[in-house]
Amino acid sequence: MVVAEVLVMNDPLDDAYDVVVIGGGSAGLNGALVLARARRSVVVVDAGAPRNAPADAVHGLFAREGTPPAELLERGRAVVRGYGGQVVSGRVEEVTRDGDGFVVGLADGRTVRARRVLVATGLVDELPEVPGVRERWGRDVLHCPYCHGWEVRDQAIGVLAGGPMSLHQTLLLRQWSADITYFAHTAEPLTDEEAERLAARGIRVEEGDVAAVEVVDDRLVGLRMADGRLVRREALVVGPRMVARVGFLKALGVEPVPHPAGEYVQADATGRTDAPGVWIAGNASDLSAQVGGAAAAGAFAAAQINADLVNEDTERAVAVYREASVGAGAGAGAGAGAGAGVGVGVRGGAGRGA
Ligand SMILES: Cc1cc2nc3c(=O)[nH]c(=O)nc-3n(C[C@H](O)[C@H](O)[C@H](O)COP(=O)(O)OP(=O)(O)OC[C@H]3O[C@@H](n4cnc5c(N)ncnc54)[C@H](O)[C@@H]3O)c2cc1C
Repeated sequence: MVVAEVLVMNDPLDDAYDVVVIGGGSAGLNGALVLARARRSVVVVDAGAPRNAPADAVHGLFAREGTPPAELLERGRAVVRGYGGQVVSGRVEEVTRDGDGFVVGLADGRTVRARRVLVATGLVDELPEVPGVRERWGRDVLHCPYCHGWEVRDQAIGVLAGGPMSLHQTLLLRQWSADITYFAHTAEPLTDEEAERLAARGIRVEEGDVAAVEVVDDRLVGLRMADGRLVRREALVVGPRMVARVGFLKALGVEPVPHPAGEYVQADATGRTDAPGVWIAGNASDLSAQVGGAAAAGAFAAAQINADLVNEDTERAVAVYREASVGAGAGAGAGAGAGAGVGVGVRGGAGRGA
């Protein structure tokens, strides 16, 4: 497999931030961008292994179609930094609650405090254990027709069955090529109705186990069956088991739940998890999110986090304001106002504007 760890030039790490974003893919970086533009102190801690690293380009992405994944993220980091956000490389190992905030612990021993946490660590694709699949992953072994279907259009495509989505994937691929073979491999036998649906679309079925992906001159040329035959193909589609990368949230009681295609973290429509103060966005909470969807979820969660912090800031300001008002006595409103900071400014401004 091509391991394309993305180089992250480090910013220095402060002691505390409004928000620590864990994971610097499209979800995390877009979340950090929105938070930095909302004038929040924010750091992205990123382990540098985005899910689509093995691919040459990002497809199906508005206005950035065909951009290499590493280039897209480099642009994303630069924009976050341009608004005063920070991006550091590191792996978060644990997040614990501390008062009304959090302590985020990194694998290198550093810790950082956060008022809120945005988790955007993506998922791991657990690939079928067929020799050659891992080595060709993201090149001519694929999973998502919307990401790569165009690139393999009209080619001889195989679908390696085994997951719950195999049949759906096979019928979907027929939109991109008329030459599709369904490799039954370890899948449950097809029902008569399923076999009829495949036959009706001209999709061939190969029974029997697949032994290996055959490669010649750095190109996939077919699938070697356990009985020794080579079935010629130019691309292979697999259904990985997709598992959210969230082990570091255990201490907060946030754990992934089963999904037919893997494991993900449940959150509400805004990305809020069951753990107060912790939001999640991107593939970690939505296994089907593509780059655009993950980025959008990151931005939306960031706006909710900012609103939550605005509420907290306001409550704190009100408490200070009341205390100052009481301390100054009933007739000393002007003096109390001067000491109440933000709360008074907002309140006075709103009153005049109305
Ligand atoms: C081969 C392949 C090709 C793809 N092609 C396309 C395509 O063409 N178009 C498209 O729209 N989508 C494509 N996708 C899907 C795309 O990869 C995802 O939609 C996208 O990466 C999700 O973004 P994310 O921010 O949720 O996660 P990621 O991009 O995976 O980013 C998560 C980041 O968090 C980091 N991280 C993980 N754990 C930790 C930790 N404990 N501490 C700190 N950091 C951590 C990771 O290292 C990573 O950098 C493809 C996927 C694959 C597998």
